[in-house]
Amino acid sequence: MDQSAIDALGAAPIASQSMWIGGRQVAASDGETFDAISPIDGQVLAPLPAGTADDMRAAVAAARQSFEAGAWSNMAPAARKRIMHRIADLIEKHALELAVLGVRDNGTEISMAIKAEPGSAAATFRFYAECVDKVMGDIAPTDPSVLGLIHREAVGVVGAIVPWNFPLMIGAWKIAPALAMGNSVVLKPAEVASLSLLRLTEICHEAGLPEGVLNVVTGKGAVVGSALAHDMDVDVLTFTGSGATGRRLLEASAASNMKPCYLELGGKSPNIIFDDAPNLDKAIAASAAAIFRNSGQVCVAGSRLLVQASIYDEVVEKLSQQASTMKVGNPLDLTTQAGAVSSDVQLAQNLAHVEAALSGGARLATGGQRILQNSGGYYMQPTVFADVTGDMKLAQEEVFGPVLGVIRFEDEAEAVRLANATVYGLAAGVWTSDLGRAHRMVKAVKAGVVHVNTYGGPDITVPLSGHKQSGNGSDKSIYALEKFSKLKTAWIQL
Ligand code: NAD
Repeated sequence: MDQSAIDALGAAPIASQSMWIGGRQVAASDGETFDAISPIDGQVLAPLPAGTADDMRAAVAAARQSFEAGAWSNMAPAARKRIMHRIADLIEKHALELAVLGVRDNGTEISMAIKAEPGSAAATFRFYAECVDKVMGDIAPTDPSVLGLIHREAVGVVGAIVPWNFPLMIGAWKIAPALAMGNSVVLKPAEVASLSLLRLTEICHEAGLPEGVLNVVTGKGAVVGSALAHDMDVDVLTFTGSGATGRRLLEASAASNMKPCYLELGGKSPNIIFDDAPNLDKAIAASAAAIFRNSGQVCVAGSRLLVQASIYDEVVEKLSQQASTMKVGNPLDLTTQAGAVSSDVQLAQNLAHVEAALSGGARLATGGQRILQNSGGYYMQPTVFADVTGDMKLAQEEVFGPVLGVIRFEDEAEAVRLANATVYGLAAGVWTSDLGRAHRMVKAVKAGVVHVNTYGGPDITVPLSGHKQSGNGSDKSIYALEKFSKLKTAWIQL
C-alpha cells in the first residue's frame, strides 16, 4: 500500500450521496438530509438522504417487484455466479478507494480496514458466487409409489440492517449469501457508516446486478430501520448490531408478519491466558491487538482478559506497557495502530465506562483519557483496568471501545466459571500448551468461536454464531445460506 495514494484519496471531495431504489439513485422523498461526519477531524464529509418510512416502503416494493419479475431470481445460476464474481473483481479493483472512503466515515485504521473491509467483502462475494451452482435440492427415500422432491427456494425479500464498525465486511456477509440464493435485498446501513456501502451498491449495478435486486435506504434506525422491520412484505430480516435494537426487531417481527429475524449481537468475550501459554509474549501482544485494534469496535473483541494468578502481575505490566506505546492517531496513516472512535457519541460512552470502572473499584493501569482533541476528531487512549472482578460493570457490559478489564483466576474450573458468567457468548480465546485443556475449554466455554493460541482471523469458510444473548443465527460459511432459503416438498404419485 502506498501512503501517497491513500493521502490523495483521503483528500478527495465526496459527492452528495443518493439512496438506491429500484435501480435508480434517489434523494429522500421529502428532500431531507443529514451529514456524514468524519471521526478523523469532526468535519462534514457529505450530505446523505434522511430516508422516510415511505422511502423504505418504496424500496421493499421495488425489491418485491424485482423478485417476482425474476430477472435475478430466475436467472440461470451460471449467469448469476458470473455477476457475483464480477462484483468481487470490481471490489478488488477499487479496494483502496473503498477502504479509504470507509475509514473517512468510521475511523478504522487503514492497515486493518484494507483487509477487513474490501478484502473481506471480495472474498465473501467469491465464496457465495461459488455456492450459486452447488447448492442443490434432494430426493427423499420414500415408498417407491411416490417421488418426494425437496426443493430449496429463495425466501423472496431480505431486509438487512448493519452496524458501523465494519460496514463492507458485515454488509457483504448479508448481501452475498442472500443474492446467491436468488433473493432481492433491502439494505439499511448505519447512520455513521453509509458511504462505502453506497459505493458497493454502485459497483453491484456496474457488475450487472438487475435493477431493484439491491436497494439501499439511508437514514435513522428508528425511522427507516423500524419501517423495514415492520414491513409486511419483508420475508426475512438479518441484523447485526446491539442487543437493544435486536429486541426491538424481534418485537417488530411479532407485531407484523412474524418474519424470521436473525440477530448477530454484541459480546463481552473472555480471552483466557493460562500460565502454560506456549509463548507468553505472543499471547500478550495478540491480547492487546484483540481489544485495541479498531479502537475496540470489534464485536469479537477480547474485552475481558482472564489471567492465571501466577502470571497476573507480569501480564498486566507488559500489556499496559504495550497499550501505552501503541500509535493512536489519524487512521489514514499506514503506521497508525488504532484509529479514531467512530463518533462523539461512542467516545462519550467509552469515557462513561471508564468513570464507572473507577468508581466500581477497578485499578486503572494505563490510559482512560480522550486524546488529540486539537484534531477535532474522536480519539482515546488504549485503556487497561486491573483488579477487575466478575461482578463489576466492566466485566459484564459491552463497552465497544478500547477498554480492557483484566481478571485474575486460580485454576481451570474458575476460568470456565468466569468465562461463562455474562449474558453474552460470541467469542473467546484460550492460551495453553496443554492439548487436553485446550479441547476441554473449547467444549466448556459458551461462545460461537473459541480461538486457541491465537485471537481473531477466522475466514469466510467458518460460521460466526452468537450463543446466549450474542445472537440467534450464523453469518458466514455455507451455513448462512440456510437463513436465505426455504424448503418446499413436491409429493408426486407415480
Ligand atoms: P445499533 O444496534 O445501534 O445499530 C445497528 C443498526 O441498527 C444501525 O443500522 C441502526 O441504524 C439500526 N437501528 C437502530 N435502531 C433501530 C430500530 N429501532 N429499528 C431498526 N433498526 C435500528 O448498533 P451499532 O452501535 O451500530 O453497532 C454496535 C453493536 O453491534 C455492538 O453491540 C457490536 O458488538 C455489535 N456487532 C455484532 C457483530 C456480530 O457479528 N455479532 C458484528 C459487529 C457488531
